[in-house]
Amino acid sequence: MPAIATMKSLAFMNKWVVTEKLGCPADFGFGELVWPTPGDEIPFWKNKFPSRDASPEAPAEIEKDSNLMHIIHITAEMAPIAKVGGLGDVVTGLARACLSRGHTVDIMLPFYECIQKQEISDLALITTYNSYHDGNWVATNAYHGVVSSIPVIFIEPSNQFFKGKNVYGGSYNELEAYLFFSRACLEWMQVTGVQPDIIHVHEWQIGALPLLYWDMYQSLSLKKPRIVLTIHNMEHYGECRQEQLSKCGLDGSIYASVEKAIDDRTIGHNPERLSLLKGGIVYSNAVVYFGILNGIDTVIWNPATDAFLPAKFHAQKPEGKKICKYYIQKGLGLKSEGTVPLVVCITRLVAQKGLHLITHAIKRAEELGGQMILLGNSPVHWVQKDFEDLANLHNKGTSTRILLMYSEELSHMLYAAADIVLVPSIYEPCGLAQMIGMRYGAVPVVRKTGGLADTVFDVDDPSNHEKANGFVFEGIDEGSLNWALDRAFRHFIDKPEEWNRIVQKVMENDNSWNNAAGKYMEIYNSIRVG
Ligand code: ADP
Repeated sequence: MPAIATMKSLAFMNKWVVTEKLGCPADFGFGELVWPTPGDEIPFWKNKFPSRDASPEAPAEIEKDSNLMHIIHITAEMAPIAKVGGLGDVVTGLARACLSRGHTVDIMLPFYECIQKQEISDLALITTYNSYHDGNWVATNAYHGVVSSIPVIFIEPSNQFFKGKNVYGGSYNELEAYLFFSRACLEWMQVTGVQPDIIHVHEWQIGALPLLYWDMYQSLSLKKPRIVLTIHNMEHYGECRQEQLSKCGLDGSIYASVEKAIDDRTIGHNPERLSLLKGGIVYSNAVVYFGILNGIDTVIWNPATDAFLPAKFHAQKPEGKKICKYYIQKGLGLKSEGTVPLVVCITRLVAQKGLHLITHAIKRAEELGGQMILLGNSPVHWVQKDFEDLANLHNKGTSTRILLMYSEELSHMLYAAADIVLVPSIYEPCGLAQMIGMRYGAVPVVRKTGGLADTVFDVDDPSNHEKANGFVFEGIDEGSLNWALDRAFRHFIDKPEEWNRIVQKVMENDNSWNNAAGKYMEIYNSIRVG
């Protein structure tokens, strides 16, 4: 076997197959890995991994629907190529679940400059056309490609929209860019003659599309589609001035009434503002909000096949999870001797997510002798700065790591390494982190709110024995969090067998999309024509 130097370079490619022994604890019985260190030239989560699409097929046992239809999702995010938060996961998961039930599904997405083109298979230019913006017709390209086995149509205007290093926050007017995109999607259908049964729009960004559809494109050639709007997070509603709405070719003043798109909260202000989300609600055939619990894509999130994990595992063969934990501890320079609970929190750092509770958990986990890793970043400069200060304070020791970045790869590894996944949100329409964590054998500690309350049931609540799968607290104060976190730690340390039973139970939980997709199908069927 080659010397360590060769093995290191191997490690940069695909290190899981290296057979030289390098200090792997013998009792893991998993062969040997090259353990990463914090000093590695290339951090372990930036290794080259086998394609994410290694196992994109839907599970074979999904039954096909009889009443098949064509659905086009129109969205600002799609996992994994343009994901900022849960919206991207939801669109990909729902689209794939409907595909595996036999339906025709496409996703329409802006062709953000930051999308890595090599992650798209069979990418090809399919249409060149013009779409309207602010008095001009803008030359626009539509590309077709396949991502995670889902057909995607990418819309690329020739102006500055969607250029920049990130999905959001480029140096163009975001509201106007999404107004343009909403119209460009309909214009593409108009030009190509594609008429799906359902146009499924997501969030405020696509809120103007239902207005454009009913008030403009229905009197052109689009007749068949019906529109579903899903609101994932009502905090953002697309505040819009009348003259901004006019830039997509609608007369903004016509929508300035409470029956249409005016935001009631701005009445009496000068000027009163429209809300794209409100307009979308009024003009869609069906609106989904809170009503359907999301699922997770169990192909993308599968610890038994996940290409990012140093060892695979599942409920019946959980040993690989220990390797994942040891690997992370080694790679991040955390203490790896002894058995201490590892808490993981992966989140956008925004007020909704309970910032003061996250900060407190970092201190509390340390006080209790455990470990905590936070993976997150914030669009708000001062929040990012506060967490940077916190990182400087805590990251020197061997029990806490605050990693202020976005990394899909690292997120998979951390869920797999975690004993506990923490989600202390102030409000949470659904929440995916707790579901993903559970699938990877991490026991959830969550605040009792929204979708968290619907998916996590307290182990110590006698009325919920059947469903019990985690630790829940209600208050938004630090004491409430302590109450749940302390109990979780005590369980982990004092009752390891019981803990392992909970781990097995959460891994067997079915949070797949198929259930939720069935509910969406009912909605689609109730509004489609023909
Ligand atoms: P939200 O949509 O409000 O952000 P969700 O819990 O619904 O919250 O979804 C969050 C998704 O984003 C999860 O898949 C989570 O793993 C992922 N995520 C959040 N922050 C990061 C990060 N810094 N790096 C990688 N993934 C992240």
